[in-house]
Amino acid sequence: MTAAYPDTLLFIDGQWRPGAGGRSIAVTDPASGAVIGQLAHAERADLDAALAAAARGFRVWSATGAFDRYRIMRRAAELLRERADAIAAIMTREQGKPLAEARGETMAAADVIDWFAEEGRRAYGQIIPARMPGVTQMAIKLPVGPVAAFTPWNFPINQVVRKLSGALAAGCSIIVKAPEETPASPAELIRAFADAGVPAGVVNLVYGVPAEISEYLIAHPVIRKISFTGSTPVGKHLAALAGQHMKRATMELGGHAPVIICEDADIARAAQTMAGSKLRNAGQVCVSPTRFLVQGAAFEPFLGDFSAALSRARVGNGFDEGVQMGPLGNDRRVAALQGLVADAVEQGARLVIGGERIGNSGNFFAPTVLADVPLAARIMHEEPFGPIAVVNRFDTLDEAITEANRLPFGLASYAFTRSAETMQRLGLEIDAGMTTINHLGLALPEVPFGGVRESGYGTEGGSEAIEAYLVTKFITQLPG
Ligand code: NAD
Repeated sequence: MTAAYPDTLLFIDGQWRPGAGGRSIAVTDPASGAVIGQLAHAERADLDAALAAAARGFRVWSATGAFDRYRIMRRAAELLRERADAIAAIMTREQGKPLAEARGETMAAADVIDWFAEEGRRAYGQIIPARMPGVTQMAIKLPVGPVAAFTPWNFPINQVVRKLSGALAAGCSIIVKAPEETPASPAELIRAFADAGVPAGVVNLVYGVPAEISEYLIAHPVIRKISFTGSTPVGKHLAALAGQHMKRATMELGGHAPVIICEDADIARAAQTMAGSKLRNAGQVCVSPTRFLVQGAAFEPFLGDFSAALSRARVGNGFDEGVQMGPLGNDRRVAALQGLVADAVEQGARLVIGGERIGNSGNFFAPTVLADVPLAARIMHEEPFGPIAVVNRFDTLDEAITEANRLPFGLASYAFTRSAETMQRLGLEIDAGMTTINHLGLALPEVPFGGVRESGYGTEGGSEAIEAYLVTKFITQLPG
């Protein structure tokens, strides 16, 4: 089964429109390599129109009551749920992930919208006790201003919805530069907001040359905050631009998640759980488990169970029944993974399963396990962003923690143990933004989501997430 795939237009000031220059970008199906649609390409004139619209939209939306914003957002969430099947088919077509994952992402996006809609009603300030009688000191929360958001292709809707919902809940307008490779499903997200009654100019959607758009928008005085999800090198570049123009920034960047599996853990359960997690979105997930560190006697049993579970996985077109893993999002990833595997083997790693592209059409790549990988291998330093796991041994917990913290990344981390003491240590001593122990508990709307060190800064979930879109204004007054 495949689905009709729509062309995608820009959305500026409440209108769907082609780019001012009439240019378009081809969109391909990663399962076949075929061109399936066209995407409107924004020119400078379109960006200027989006900026003017966002400035007007900000005035309208920030003056809209928090309860009305909440009602419109909740309606957008409902529309998304109603349209989830159709949207999932579009996402699978352009991104490749299995249909059930695409539907899950769409439904989860509706939950994110609901969460932020509610949080917008709770953007409380403070009354601060005054030193002088009659003085009232208030710290109130105001929306920071028009936002520019830049999002990648791995989760076409999820990456947009966290930024969009946080911004709208706080009362901000937004220009989203969504991914050119997977443009139509995020456009459906924007459509749900437009259909729900978000006023013109509040939400704008553009596509084009990412570097040109980000450089122009970040520097522009209308934009007051930026949020980026993508690779660490691009994140550093955009964070530097934000610094140069004194714009607030949220950076959700790469990871290289360690998974510590202790001898006392339920090894079969750890292998099963982590195989499912590794397969998700073909490993193209910033929190994907990558560096497995397995203790002494648990090493062989874990390696056996984990490799067996991965090699049983059905890889294929995301539309086919029972497929657990689709193609990689683009052919750059296939080349990158081939390079990482060849290098690891050359450095002395043991290729346990996979390691190869599957077939000649589409970007299919076999789930891959490399064992006993030396530190000299590139994969021990670079985020694979694909269905590759490294499985190495450790003896003492200190050793495992040192290895977990060796890289400059600090996004997700995983651990399996039955010891309360070990859980306590790992929770505190792994230098990462998130640690999930004995289960998969990351990325719910109500829990923090973000990294430390080169994985970026800021959180896109939990009660703090809305703060990224708010400024504190202090007002002190004495009756005159
Ligand atoms: P890339 O670094 O070229 O691009 C990553 C994303 O950033 C893309 O969406 C791209 O459009 C965007 N981008 C690139 N330059 C930009 C700029 N100057 N301004 C604004 N946006 C810009 O890499 P890629 O080949 O698309 O993906 C490969 C790597 O990116 C992966 O290895 C992974 O590390 C990282 N990545 C991370 C995430 C994540 O969820 N954190 C998502 C996608 C990609």
